[in-house]
Amino acid sequence: MVNTALMRCPNCGHDNPEGTLFCEECDWRTDQAVRMKLGINSVYMAYIALALGAVAAILSYTGYGIVGMILGAAGLFLGTYCLKALRLSGVKGGVKTTLLAMATAAMLLSVFGLMYGLTAL
Ligand SMILES: [Zn+2]
Repeated sequence: MVNTALMRCPNCGHDNPEGTLFCEECDWRTDQAVRMKLGINSVYMAYIALALGAVAAILSYTGYGIVGMILGAAGLFLGTYCLKALRLSGVKGGVKTTLLAMATAAMLLSVFGLMYGLTAL
């Protein structure tokens, strides 16, 4: 960790006092380690949510509505968490686009699994 008197916000360029966790100007999370952790989490969550959503959709479609509903709810929850972690992590560019697409697909599949599971009850 670099010891500087000021921490420049990577989002808006505002100089914050050392140790500030949120930018005084734009509320950006300035803690690099936390942002990196959130970024890594969002990658895991995107994969898990996508897997849950896909399994939920397949199970609901093949008659396992209750299991599909539960997995769909879990996939939806993880997809939401992924989007939140992604936004807070400040991940940008192609990685962000990919993760956004994955989380969106995961949530759509999860909703499908949830709804289809409901109708199959
Ligand atoms: Zn800022």
